[in-house]
Amino acid sequence: MILAQLIDLLRAIAAIYAALLATYFVTCLAITRLNRQACKIQRSRQTPIAQIRRDQKQSVFSLAVIAAMLGCGHWSYTILGWGLRPLPGVGGLALSFVASLVLFDAWFYWLHRLIHTRFLYRCVHRWHHLTVTPVAWSNNSDRLIDNLFLQSYWLVAHMLIPITPAVLFAHKFYDQITGVIGHSGFEHGGRWCWPPSPLVSVTHHDQHHRFFRCNYATHFTWWDRMMGTLHPDHDSELKANLFRRARRGPKQ
Ligand SMILES: [Zn+2]
Ligand SMILES: [Zn+2]
Repeated sequence: MILAQLIDLLRAIAAIYAALLATYFVTCLAITRLNRQACKIQRSRQTPIAQIRRDQKQSVFSLAVIAAMLGCGHWSYTILGWGLRPLPGVGGLALSFVASLVLFDAWFYWLHRLIHTRFLYRCVHRWHHLTVTPVAWSNNSDRLIDNLFLQSYWLVAHMLIPITPAVLFAHKFYDQITGVIGHSGFEHGGRWCWPPSPLVSVTHHDQHHRFFRCNYATHFTWWDRMMGTLHPDHDSELKANLFRRARRGPKQ
């Protein structure tokens, strides 16, 4: 009985890992191709090829850790029944998706600020910031302990909000894809991220890698705006990048 449950757990982790790896590689390759139609944010800087290789290798490891956390959360919810009962109907699915976005954004913002403090930065988060000019492959390049801080949401989400596994997976894949785009180094946004839109742009996280102590959120800009941690030039630089992108032609 216990052995069968453990096999179920390992199967769930393996399936999630395969899906996350595939999403990572496909999104990185697609966005790298689409970069040709967007505008480079740090125009005078190039990312060393050794840095890209480092980020690719580390991401393969980090995605396994995320798969383990998401898989354990899924297993404890479906097998052990640890979690809140999902909301009924299509409205409940939509509401739980939005609630998960909002909750994870708050989780990420505050823990991200915590690991930027003097005591934690060097041993937890510095690895991710060795890339000052990020590329799509940089999204999942971080240390194990960094992952335990920022990504443990996927382990406990079912205990925090009433959400079905399918909707939680949908949120994770949204997070995975937008995270890769957010590290691409090229502004891909449109009117939907025109300031003061609450949705983050690529410029938002690119500034985080350049200036370190600003723009901590992952899905929305509202925590950064409310807490005064949005970079003072965020809106003006984003508008300039969106203008440059729009001038590149109708393909975009
Ligand atoms: Zn950071
Ligand atoms: Zn980053």
